[in-house]
Amino acid sequence: MKLLAPFTESNTPRWLLSFDFDGTLVVPDDDPAVSPEFFELMKSMRSCHGSCWGINTGRSLMQAVQGLVDARFPILPDYIIAREREIYLPNKFGRWVGNEDWNKRCEHEHHKLFRQCRKVLKGLKQWVEAETAAVWGIQKEEPAGIVASTASEMDMIVGKIDEEIESKTALSYQRNGIYLRFSHKHFHKGTAMLEVARLMGLTNQHAFAIGDSHNDLDMLNPEMAGLLACPANACAEVKLQVQSSGGYVAKGEASKGVIEALEALFADEKKSEGS
Ligand SMILES: [Mg+2]
Repeated sequence: MKLLAPFTESNTPRWLLSFDFDGTLVVPDDDPAVSPEFFELMKSMRSCHGSCWGINTGRSLMQAVQGLVDARFPILPDYIIAREREIYLPNKFGRWVGNEDWNKRCEHEHHKLFRQCRKVLKGLKQWVEAETAAVWGIQKEEPAGIVASTASEMDMIVGKIDEEIESKTALSYQRNGIYLRFSHKHFHKGTAMLEVARLMGLTNQHAFAIGDSHNDLDMLNPEMAGLLACPANACAEVKLQVQSSGGYVAKGEASKGVIEALEALFADEKKSEGS
């Protein structure tokens, strides 16, 4: 996997592109998992629009990197946002390096939050185990998460969580299908993307975000990105939010929808740049 031509002092990024991975850019069981045209488009958008592009996913860094290999990406993204909140940038050898300032702050705030919310989380765990078929999964780096048996069961669980956490604390969660991860409400795909934009010298006005699931809602927000889109296979809530925010709902699914959205939205950009 190769990096695209690096930006220089005289050739700085002008756009930040943020792609959700599973269901948006990649369908792991499809062959090819990503439409090859996507990579050609990334190369041409680098030269036409000065765009840098990245993966913004709920996967851990290791799972995301494995995903790039499995889907045979010929080029490396310019950044990865993992677990919906951690920022990684490639060094010149293509190795992923965490953005220490952001990631440390993120980890510290999460530790503090989970300590503060121990009681609420304990109560929710007892309720999930008594009332549902879902599994309360605790891994080393994941203090609190849930795997439901069906999407409708997760709808029900999310209803209960919303009631319990209200807006009392900074406790929030990221939901993706039957999976849920508790998190700090200030660290999500949207704020992590804005931080990457800031590091690149850009603002939300020059950010494009596309995603298909609940954990993409935070970045599919005009305060986070000036251009919003979703593929045809996005869940109903995502489509509604993209539509009501003036974004682009593609007719194509997954990477075909990604290409369609970029071509439609950046054709308008070209017109406005030229006018
Ligand atoms: Mg997705």
